[in-house]
Amino acid sequence: MIGTPLVESETTKALRQTVREACAPFGHSYFLEVSRAHGHPRKLWSALGDAGLLGVSIPEEFGGGGAGTAELVIVTEEVAASGSPLMLLALSPAVCGNTLVAHGTQAQRERWLPGLASGQDVLAYAITEPDAGSNSHRMRTTARRTAQGWSLNGAKTYISHVDNAQGILIVAKVRAEDSVTGRDGLGLFLMDADAPGLTAQKIDVEITSPERQFTLFLDNVEVSADSVVGEPGNGIAALFTGLNPERIASAALLNGIARYALAKGAKYASERVVWDVPIGAHQAIAHPLARAHVLLEASRLLTARAAALYDADMDAGEASNIAKVCASDAASAALDAAIQAHGGNGMATEYGLSTLLGLVRLFRIAPVSTEMSLNHIARKSLGLPKSY
Ligand SMILES: Cc1cc2nc3c(=O)[nH]c(=O)nc-3n(C[C@H](O)[C@H](O)[C@H](O)COP(=O)(O)OP(=O)(O)OC[C@H]3O[C@@H](n4cnc5c(N)ncnc54)[C@H](O)[C@@H]3O)c2cc1C
Repeated sequence: MIGTPLVESETTKALRQTVREACAPFGHSYFLEVSRAHGHPRKLWSALGDAGLLGVSIPEEFGGGGAGTAELVIVTEEVAASGSPLMLLALSPAVCGNTLVAHGTQAQRERWLPGLASGQDVLAYAITEPDAGSNSHRMRTTARRTAQGWSLNGAKTYISHVDNAQGILIVAKVRAEDSVTGRDGLGLFLMDADAPGLTAQKIDVEITSPERQFTLFLDNVEVSADSVVGEPGNGIAALFTGLNPERIASAALLNGIARYALAKGAKYASERVVWDVPIGAHQAIAHPLARAHVLLEASRLLTARAAALYDADMDAGEASNIAKVCASDAASAALDAAIQAHGGNGMATEYGLSTLLGLVRLFRIAPVSTEMSLNHIARKSLGLPKSY
């Protein structure tokens, strides 16, 4: 039992402690090492899997902990607060795990969920396209029914950690004649990461993180009939099942980064003396740290609220967007204040802050941009005209 978003239960505190213990041997230096080697954070990932933390939101019958997104938020935040903000947590367990739990067939769940829970398997998630971007209505990747199953054609871009994934959950357009609704629609398909006809081209990005990004080209990639997740042509429900947990887990990751940065900023500002008192005694240094802490506390509550709504099967779209926007602001403010408090050392690799600049900046663009979240909030919360 997670408790309410306002008061954490003893079980939640114990869960936090378990995550801290699992992460203790690693820290930011491990994160940098695997990121620079462009590798999978295998040791940390296995430690999290062994402690039952990757599968907290996966049902027990598939090897998980049988809890929910609220618990995945705790895990993701604590992992990031330990200095290892793994985007992979927002992708593989959050989007793909939740989508399969809610919309996968029994066979798909049996194939994938135990591996996602143990950490043995990871899934990539592919929705973004070069010519569609934020506007998924312009998606061009198609899935056409064949005698054996489905044939996928098109391109996806900025797809993370395909090089370390066993499978890809991919979103494609389904024509009216193949659609369960008789109209054009979207479908979700599970494909092997090494499927014939799939090629991946690495995109170089200026972000320190172990996950690499790829443009994928799909040239008549054949997937079997039982690879469809949800209903072909009526995949919106399955799509949104994954997108909200991705936003919530991204917010949790950013909250963890903010905690990590503020802890470092506060410590340094308490110890560093260049006049007669520690620099933290100067309000110009203390206030940005304090203001970022205020934002962070608001963000953690909003994130917990979004997770609670999702777990209660209530509409979590607006709350997930609000949490993600607030968390992006909190993490940006916290990292900036912590770097400023460090002076020149804020730029040094050794102090482990500027190493996170690219990643924190990314989350104003992905998995959903702040502008698209604000579009949603403007319409849903304020009743403003739809702008997209
Ligand atoms: C490191 C990294 C990892 C990623 N991982 C994945 C992944 O694993 N899987 C995946 O599918 N995708 C992934 N993405 C893609 C990411 O989700 C997209 O980049 C993001 O959704 C924005 O789409 P876009 O880049 O096409 O920007 P565009 O849609 O081209 O938008 C460009 C700018 O215009 C703004 N904009 C667009 N439309 C509007 C509007 N109507 N109103 C106001 N502003 C607007 C956007 O907010 C943005 O600032 C990743 C991206 C990066 C950089």
